[in-house]
Amino acid sequence: MENDGTKHQLSRRGFLGVGSAALAVAAGTMAVSGGMAQETQRSTDRSATDPGPTNTPLSAQNPDSAWPPATDSKSTIPTFKYPFSFANKRTYEGGWSREVTVRELPVSHSMAGVNMRLTAGGVRELHWHTANEWAIVLYGSARITGIDRDGKSFVADVKQNDLWFFPSGIPHSIQGLGPDGTEFMLVFDEGDFSESDTVLLSDSMAHLPPEVLSKNFGVAELALKNLPKQELFIFQTAVPGALAADQKTAAGALGKSPTDFAFRTMEMPPTKRTKSGEVRIVDSSTFKASNIAMALVTVHPGGLRELHWHPNADEWQYYIVGKGRMTVVSTGNRARTMDFQAGDVGYVEKTLLHYIENTGETDLVFLEMFKSSFYQDLSLSEWLTHTPPELVMAHLNIDRATLDAIPRDEQVIVPR
Ligand code: MN
Ligand code: MN
Repeated sequence: MENDGTKHQLSRRGFLGVGSAALAVAAGTMAVSGGMAQETQRSTDRSATDPGPTNTPLSAQNPDSAWPPATDSKSTIPTFKYPFSFANKRTYEGGWSREVTVRELPVSHSMAGVNMRLTAGGVRELHWHTANEWAIVLYGSARITGIDRDGKSFVADVKQNDLWFFPSGIPHSIQGLGPDGTEFMLVFDEGDFSESDTVLLSDSMAHLPPEVLSKNFGVAELALKNLPKQELFIFQTAVPGALAADQKTAAGALGKSPTDFAFRTMEMPPTKRTKSGEVRIVDSSTFKASNIAMALVTVHPGGLRELHWHPNADEWQYYIVGKGRMTVVSTGNRARTMDFQAGDVGYVEKTLLHYIENTGETDLVFLEMFKSSFYQDLSLSEWLTHTPPELVMAHLNIDRATLDAIPRDEQVIVPR
């Protein structure tokens, strides 16, 4: 609390000529904030202060939540951000995993993300899911295996920025390669998906009567006595040998699968490039095996992923590098701005208008993911410039020169 002496001093010294209402506000603010005589003399509005306890580093990372832009609505919309740093790691010898699902981020009802690290030789054990699995390699390299619907084998090595896609029910594995294994982001097209809700080889064997397994495989029960009694999930083993040898032995007489479950993102040119950044769009038109669509976006410092929306699907985001902010304009006169940095998940519901601005000093790189076999967006600029001009000018109260200056084609990343 402010002491009377200071208040009295202020009144004497600084407020001659200031209206009595302003003086009353200043005195009231002083009573709660205290010890800020110099600042109070400069401004009588003390509303933009926060004298209470603050998690300073977290507030500094979220300036648009701490002090939202005036354009945000007062009636807010639920959070559309969840940092993977808040997610609990499942740790094993051989690696770890952590997930952000609809439990952590309630708005993310159509997709979920699992972040996983495997050491060199570390294995995500043979398994399959009820959901489709899409993935991007964030670090290092890995060997992935699967079989297609005809039982034909698929074995491939993937490196940073490469993708894979395993449809629901298709069994697969992932193993870290040398020198330092891998880290990757898995995206599943069910919001309530969980990595712990998968069909694992070890689990399955542990829950089948030994005599049934013996009859099924045509081998003696004794030969199966060392089968794992509980799930492996992730475990450490040796780094595998040459890829060609693994491919040949796995294929056997049936031959290799004609389906490529992997996609080499950097071998394709950017779908769109401007002076402010670039985007690579990969959907089923280029990555035939996949029915999840991706845009890998790079925005240079000062650039903006232009105002747009997606008519066909929700957008699940993962921030890979840098810092940015996004405003989502929702229905019912509501809008909210949130800040993002490497490691955060973001989410935009289908049809809602949004932009992503690079607010950092380095490139901003992030993923836009869609539960759809095709990518689709609409640009606000493109819409306004392909509508009768008089109609647009009457709405926005702008002159013809201003309307004419708006880009007529979708830029994706601006300034051009
Ligand atoms: Mn999987
Ligand atoms: Mn978008």
